[in-house]
Amino acid sequence: MSPITSTVVTGIGELVTNDPSAGEGPLGIVNDAALVVDDGTVAWVGPATDAPAADRRVDVEGRAVLPGFVDSHSHLVFAGERSAEFEARMSGVPYDGGGIASTVRATRDADDDTLRRRVKALLAEMRAQGTTTVEIKSGYGLTVDDEARALRIAREFTQETTFLGAHVVPPEYSGRVDEYVELVTGPMLQACSPHARWIDVFCEPGSPHAFDGDASRAVLQAGQEAGLELRVHGNQLSYGPGVLLAVEHGAASVDHCTFLDDEDVAALVGSSTVATLLPGVEFSTRQPYPDARRLIDAGVTVALATDCNPGTCFTSSMPICTALAVREMRMTPVEAVWAATEGAAKSLRRKDIGHLRVGARADLAVLEAPSYRHLAYRPGVPLTRTLEIPS
Ligand SMILES: [Zn+2]
Repeated sequence: MSPITSTVVTGIGELVTNDPSAGEGPLGIVNDAALVVDDGTVAWVGPATDAPAADRRVDVEGRAVLPGFVDSHSHLVFAGERSAEFEARMSGVPYDGGGIASTVRATRDADDDTLRRRVKALLAEMRAQGTTTVEIKSGYGLTVDDEARALRIAREFTQETTFLGAHVVPPEYSGRVDEYVELVTGPMLQACSPHARWIDVFCEPGSPHAFDGDASRAVLQAGQEAGLELRVHGNQLSYGPGVLLAVEHGAASVDHCTFLDDEDVAALVGSSTVATLLPGVEFSTRQPYPDARRLIDAGVTVALATDCNPGTCFTSSMPICTALAVREMRMTPVEAVWAATEGAAKSLRRKDIGHLRVGARADLAVLEAPSYRHLAYRPGVPLTRTLEIPS
């Protein structure tokens, strides 16, 4: 039997291409569409009636097909769980970021296979909900060996690995932030950079657990010198320098963006830095949501991601994040779908994913529904899955 090289996916009731020149509106929608996949790549897109022949045919019977979700912000390498802390928070106990220490303890105590199994299980959850690219951060080891281990394990699953030694100051460095920053920018960076594409920092001067502007700048500069590209956790819990630092250093993304002043928004407009919003966090912490409308209306590129982590947001679901973006942040369904696919791809500086133009990676999500609108219209319903194309 000769190997299958091309597949025509047909019977697509509504195809979201994210290519405005291929179809209607910003999502480039083609109705009654087909798409040819050749050797893992999109080779042809258009009306089903014009579809060329292929070795194999997959009929999706009128369902909607969209680019697989790009989850550009997750913390999957950890052990333990914090459901009791969540319950306490929902009963009124305030969140201050201190719970991360318990995950750090559990992660340091876990063996490699325990961590690997957890990552694998969470990625399977994500894939089952239509996510085809995932960025994974370290940040629960916070020693040279434990951070390098987290990144080695993450690398087994994705190229989009992020060194987040500057997640929080670990308890053993309490009151000695400067010494910890020296460790992060010195031996830890050296051990971690071979396994990472990105470096990230939790810039939150008001938090006793995170890093101020000067420390964040030192981390970003050291990462850049070591050849890593930049991402920033910024402006999550209060106003601060995170966004301006990210733009100034040409970071690909600044994530959270809950508390922004006019200067922050102005800096993002026309910059190469994407504002990544993580509405699952505000949902899970009862914090105010970021003002997505203000950013989009100003012309800022906005992405959506889960921030899947055991403390502030333990969802792996991009569909629920798009529903929250629409319901709670007043994004339109079109904006939310774009932000969860092409917007998030831009936040990873990837041109081969997040859209279905010819030449893109054939990462497809299929909905048990006729339209992308059902993602926000039917929250919590398992409509989305990844469409596996045999190669
Ligand atoms: Zn995060």
